[in-house]
Amino acid sequence: MSDHDHEAARLAHARLPEGLRPETLAVRTALAPSQHGENSEGLFLTSAFVQPDAETSARRFAEMEDFTYARTSNPTVRSLEARLAAMEGAEAAVATSTGMSAILLLVMGLLKSGDHVVCSRSVFGSTVSLFAKEFAKFGVETSFVSQTDLAEWRAAIQPNTKLLFAETPTNPLTDVCDIAALADIAHGAGALLTVDNTFCSPALQRPLALGADLVMHAGTKYLDGQGRVMAGALCGPRSLIHDVFGPTLRTAGMTLAPFNAWVVLKGLETLSLRMRAQSEATLAVAQWLERHPAVSRVYYPGLKSHPQHELAMRQQSGLGGAVLSFDVHADGPEAAKTKAFHVIDSTRVLSIATNLGDTKSIITHPATTSHGRLSEAQRLAVGIGQGMIRLAVGLEHVADITDDLQRGLGSL
Ligand SMILES: *Cc1c(COP(=O)(O)O)cnc(C)c1O
Repeated sequence: MSDHDHEAARLAHARLPEGLRPETLAVRTALAPSQHGENSEGLFLTSAFVQPDAETSARRFAEMEDFTYARTSNPTVRSLEARLAAMEGAEAAVATSTGMSAILLLVMGLLKSGDHVVCSRSVFGSTVSLFAKEFAKFGVETSFVSQTDLAEWRAAIQPNTKLLFAETPTNPLTDVCDIAALADIAHGAGALLTVDNTFCSPALQRPLALGADLVMHAGTKYLDGQGRVMAGALCGPRSLIHDVFGPTLRTAGMTLAPFNAWVVLKGLETLSLRMRAQSEATLAVAQWLERHPAVSRVYYPGLKSHPQHELAMRQQSGLGGAVLSFDVHADGPEAAKTKAFHVIDSTRVLSIATNLGDTKSIITHPATTSHGRLSEAQRLAVGIGQGMIRLAVGLEHVADITDDLQRGLGSL
């Protein structure tokens, strides 16, 4: 058997008919069950795998096929990788310990000193730091450009540009970039496009189908979906995942723990239902906020008032996702901060935290938390004022969420 057949034979997926839809793949794709026939995928908590004989052991270590040692691979982790790859429409996936370690793996595997990256200025804060500070120490330089201005991306390309990195929609302003257009720019320059698909997940957005080369995930967010564990992943062609990132991960060890893999594996089974329900609830909250006299602006791709509404609807299965932001009416930054804090502190249902992708709705003040390390001038340059509040909508009843916001908004 070829490596590919060997891999396929281990997948329960191989016994399934062709052409299954993403919802079915999300529930059914995994390694074949053990001899016990468990219907829910097993959790294999073991660091080593016993080999039948020395000859087989030697072959498995040489080929890195089958299971030898858990830094290299583990059946629970392998099931998660297979399921996520199927959902993203990717040939393969590799799971990592966190979302950030997926980006670490991406750059360690793909780039070397002297290479250049073009990255949106509006990506996740730690992603900016990782590219701007950590990778720069190793001679990988990054140019940061506008999320939405394609001319800036084109102008930033250099002869040594190897990677374009985008995230859409962004946090907290929900700016949307055109994945297909960025893929064209990348390929015209002989570079690869990686998209951080954390905010939409494959339930809404499949960047590979739009021309991206790799998808990166913080599995910590919607893939788990219930705020329990940290996880990350890269999805893409077998030639990169198995031949480039696999060996780097096995050596460098940003491996996902089996327990966390199992939690996310089970989270994927309800991803599509959650993303749809949470997106519909977020649209209802966004429309309610847009009508509220104490609110000056709402940022949400599902609203017609969003500058990239049409693009977002095309790219995200007609849904806006489950994160919105809004500005409270105020004169000057001090008053805005006081009012935003009043709205946040008046809630009794929402969680005051800085996560997202949970079933529990989370309310955040970006200017003093996720974007607190920026200067006031830098924040204003990107449009994050003291009066801005971010909401990551969960699965509570919509009316309980708007009632909770009204406690503060109604008494400003
Ligand atoms: C949370 C997040 C990350 C980082 O993921 P961790 O699991 O926290 O390391 C990266 N990108 C986006 C868009 C995120 O929301």
